[in-house]
Amino acid sequence: MDISVIIPLYNEAESLPELVAWIERVMSENNFTYEVLMIDDGSTDKSWEVIESLHAKNASVRGVSFRRNYGKSPALNVGFTRAQGDVVITMDADLQDSPDEIPELYRMITEDGYDLVSGWKKKRYDPLSKTLPTKLFNATARRVSGIHNLHDFNCGLKAYRREVVKHIEVYGDMHRYIPYLAKNAGYSRIGEKVVHHQARKYGTTKFGLDRFVNGYLDLMTLWFQSKFGVKPMHFFGLLGSLMFIIGFIAVVIVGASKLYNMYAGNPYILVTDSPYFFLSLTFMILGTQLFLTGFLGELVIRHAPDRNHYEIEAELNGETSEAKK
Ligand code: UDP
Ligand code: MG
Repeated sequence: MDISVIIPLYNEAESLPELVAWIERVMSENNFTYEVLMIDDGSTDKSWEVIESLHAKNASVRGVSFRRNYGKSPALNVGFTRAQGDVVITMDADLQDSPDEIPELYRMITEDGYDLVSGWKKKRYDPLSKTLPTKLFNATARRVSGIHNLHDFNCGLKAYRREVVKHIEVYGDMHRYIPYLAKNAGYSRIGEKVVHHQARKYGTTKFGLDRFVNGYLDLMTLWFQSKFGVKPMHFFGLLGSLMFIIGFIAVVIVGASKLYNMYAGNPYILVTDSPYFFLSLTFMILGTQLFLTGFLGELVIRHAPDRNHYEIEAELNGETSEAKK
């Protein structure tokens, strides 16, 4: 099968017939073999009935229905595990992404050798309250992830080589950072294609402004995981030791200066009257806590099932070269 189109959707009943008809047209014009995977994320409108009737008309349209609303990432995750096409394309259900982009995305994956191609809604038809923070968000994501050529991390329209979606795990709200997840899994040929964008035709947006707060928190999580995921002590240990040492040196200075002044017959203040004494105590306590957090992190990691999971691309050993002879 050439292409799997994955469509996560939540209450998008009005858009679906139009979207599917459009996809069918593009696929037959280009002679692609394909499947459309509709992941109904617990819709409370008629979305599932619409999907059932679309499936009855065309068996290439398949569907999964969640019992409740889990979110876009879980929907994509289920789509990824089910996808069978050589190229996997994700797109939003609200007709904001155009199926006309599919042939070129397919070509970029199969001929240009990209692992992942992300859409870029260069000209957007969204309210300013969304486009402005998005610019900031993408600038941060570019810096943190080190993927400098992407302008639009969270574009719903993306294409992947099948292997890529089988090796990344989207969960929580991590759909915003799939290119970063792919990069961390070793798929770094990441490309971008300018795509047409339309204003939402039916229904309403499912994400509010909290997306930006949560987006930043998730970015920090991913950064931490990719840097210190299997060596938390390198983070907490360093920070904790530094704080403890600063606190310790400060407390020694406070005590020593009191003793010195006492024996020299100068006026002196009690150690507990010095604000620096309390600051250094706090530093030493926090430092110890951070250090212990590092130990706990290491104990957690020791039991993580994927602590020794590596993606091996090629291997040379005696047996394979024998077999080739
Ligand atoms: N979506 C989903 N589950 C949710 C929220 C959204 O499957 O809990 C789908 C939604 O139906 C749409 C896509 O994710 O197909 C993108 O959502 P939306 O268009 O509301 O986001 P925006 O375009 O405003 O960023
Ligand atoms: Mg939308």
